[in-house]
Amino acid sequence: MIGNFDARVPSGPLDRKWTSHKDHSRLVSPNNRRKFEIIVVGSGLAGGSAVATLGELGYRVRCFCYQDSPRRAHSIAAQGGINAAKNYQNDGDSIYRLFYDTIKGGDFRSREGNVYRLAEVSSNIIDQCVAQGVPFAREYGGLLANRSFGGAQVSRTFYARGQTGQQLLLGCYQALCRQIAAGTVQMFPQTEMLDVVVVDGHAKGIVTRNLRTGKIDNVAADAVVLATGGYGNVFYLSTNARGCNVTATYRAYKKGALFANPCFTQIHPTCIPHSGDYQSKLTLMSESLRNDGRVWVPKRKEDCNKAPNEIPEADRDYYLERKYPSYGNLAPRDISSRAAKEVCDEGRGVGPGGRGVYLDFADAIKRVGEQTIRERYGNLFEVYEKITGENAYQVPMRIYPAVHYTMGGLWVDYNLMSNIPGLFVIGEANFSDHGANRLGASALMQGLADGYFVLPYTLPNYLAGQMGKRPSTDHAEFKKADNDVRAKIDNLLKINGKRSLDSIHRELGTLLWDKCGMARNKAGLEEALRKIPELRERFWREVRVPGDGEDFNQSLERAGRVADFLEFAELMCLDALARDESCGAHFREEHQTPEGEALRDDDNFADVFAWEFQGNPATAGPKLHREALRFETVHLAQRSYK
Ligand SMILES: Cc1cc2nc3c(=O)[nH]c(=O)nc-3n(C[C@H](O)[C@H](O)[C@H](O)COP(=O)(O)OP(=O)(O)OC[C@H]3O[C@@H](n4cnc5c(N)ncnc54)[C@H](O)[C@@H]3O)c2cc1C
Repeated sequence: MIGNFDARVPSGPLDRKWTSHKDHSRLVSPNNRRKFEIIVVGSGLAGGSAVATLGELGYRVRCFCYQDSPRRAHSIAAQGGINAAKNYQNDGDSIYRLFYDTIKGGDFRSREGNVYRLAEVSSNIIDQCVAQGVPFAREYGGLLANRSFGGAQVSRTFYARGQTGQQLLLGCYQALCRQIAAGTVQMFPQTEMLDVVVVDGHAKGIVTRNLRTGKIDNVAADAVVLATGGYGNVFYLSTNARGCNVTATYRAYKKGALFANPCFTQIHPTCIPHSGDYQSKLTLMSESLRNDGRVWVPKRKEDCNKAPNEIPEADRDYYLERKYPSYGNLAPRDISSRAAKEVCDEGRGVGPGGRGVYLDFADAIKRVGEQTIRERYGNLFEVYEKITGENAYQVPMRIYPAVHYTMGGLWVDYNLMSNIPGLFVIGEANFSDHGANRLGASALMQGLADGYFVLPYTLPNYLAGQMGKRPSTDHAEFKKADNDVRAKIDNLLKINGKRSLDSIHRELGTLLWDKCGMARNKAGLEEALRKIPELRERFWREVRVPGDGEDFNQSLERAGRVADFLEFAELMCLDALARDESCGAHFREEHQTPEGEALRDDDNFADVFAWEFQGNPATAGPKLHREALRFETVHLAQRSYK
């Protein structure tokens, strides 16, 4: 293995670890910072915040993204809010409580030290964003407003209507642009990273393709940061932006970076149901709606085809309130999703195909008035009406779980550095903080914590020992990576089959949804592991990639990403098969409590699974490394939201 597999969580009391780590980390003096070049791949909230901060510190940063502007990163889609332990509501919140909720929400499969740090810096994020002018919702008196998200009994979610990601990204983008103007940051939009270059065991560069001209470039640096987001689109249908993919992290994995917990996928309970075979994307209805919306299905199957207003109160099953009285409609996502699946599997689902449950605002409208609901969620109701043609102020929304977020990602230590020295991974692209299930409004918190407040301390600690070690792009490793990238592109263009990329990707997605989705079992995973290599083989024989590599060619871009998904899917299923327990969103049907909840096996699986690439999967499967999770503060318990 390249580098080593030590989590490097500092010793000492939980609430002193981060401060003492910062106090003892190495620094780079202001005059030396401009001598270092840093590559950041990704300009979403994680990448953008890191780039702006590192630029401000005086490093020379090159930032790459495949969109035409950093403003269009997938982070812009985030709707409901961002958590922080400010306790503005005086309702009992604290750093410890946010830490504990997150550890418990992740079903005790994340590192205490990382999660405590996340809770600790959460308040700074809000201050930073307010200073940038992010227009968070405010109370009548001018203080910032909060609402609740799943898995918490306090209100700690800061929001800007249903457009929190967009507003945060605007703040971050302004900070980024300021650095571009100051000359510390160079931005490379429409440029895709296709390989990481490792020189003498350290990440020292990348190979990119200009998506407008097809030009392949080699870029050397002192360190490489991947902030390339999640891989939910491996399922074809997800709430993610269409462009989200696994290519950057998967290709880093093939260069020796360990991939952690790849099977941990979040299925979000409140999405607009899938409506037809030609659909290419699913739409989220933010979890914030569950502050006021009540989830229900008819008690009797026979009522499922009736209009909802014809079903009297007594015949409705508010199943989340019934099963989880203390959290009710704000039960965490994994639990709420499974509960929706369960009632639909019983034949009590509503809408086409019986794959839907109601999210009903009638009570809230009666209580606070339509105008207040409009102010809180107006844009989400508009999105819903545009897609379904229904007015959710008058009839309940219909929702169903959908793939939304990936807790798995490249393995990183406490410094957010992968096992390859010099390769840092931040935001959704790493595996670090959410264990087996992420709580709502915690992804934005993590991405911005990583970019604004963690990496700017941990990256210098690495760079301090790297002065003068940046290689030239003439190095043989650059040549090799460059050749590999060109060969892969040529091979894709040579296939010249008849099948569309979408049809193969959709087939892969359906297989994964059925066998490695909301519920998994040994037989299903083994079946998927047999079928994925066959599908991959068909891809390389039958797919058609029109055009050439010397020009703007979106089919070629997509072909490379689908090819990577076809390999990565196998790693996900292997991981799901090897983790012979249920935890959080990873629900192995063989392991459940009598009430149908996930049944962990802490004796054998209180670990992070980190996989090492060993070459062609047909001849050498990946090697599993296990990082034992140490719980010094929290007591491992069966998660209960009753
Ligand atoms: C519909 C929706 C709503 C959400 N709402 C919330 C919410 O309310 N609260 C919350 O906390 N979370 C929410 N999330 C989750 C959250 O939005 C994401 O987890 C988070 O924004 C990810 O940020 P990121 O910076 O890690 O990645 P992204 O924003 O996905 O950015 C990835 C960046 O990497 C670049 N990139 C990727 N691969 C390459 C490559 N090979 N070469 C060059 N560039 C590359 C992209 O161009 C992009 O700039 C939501 C998610 C969805 C789908």
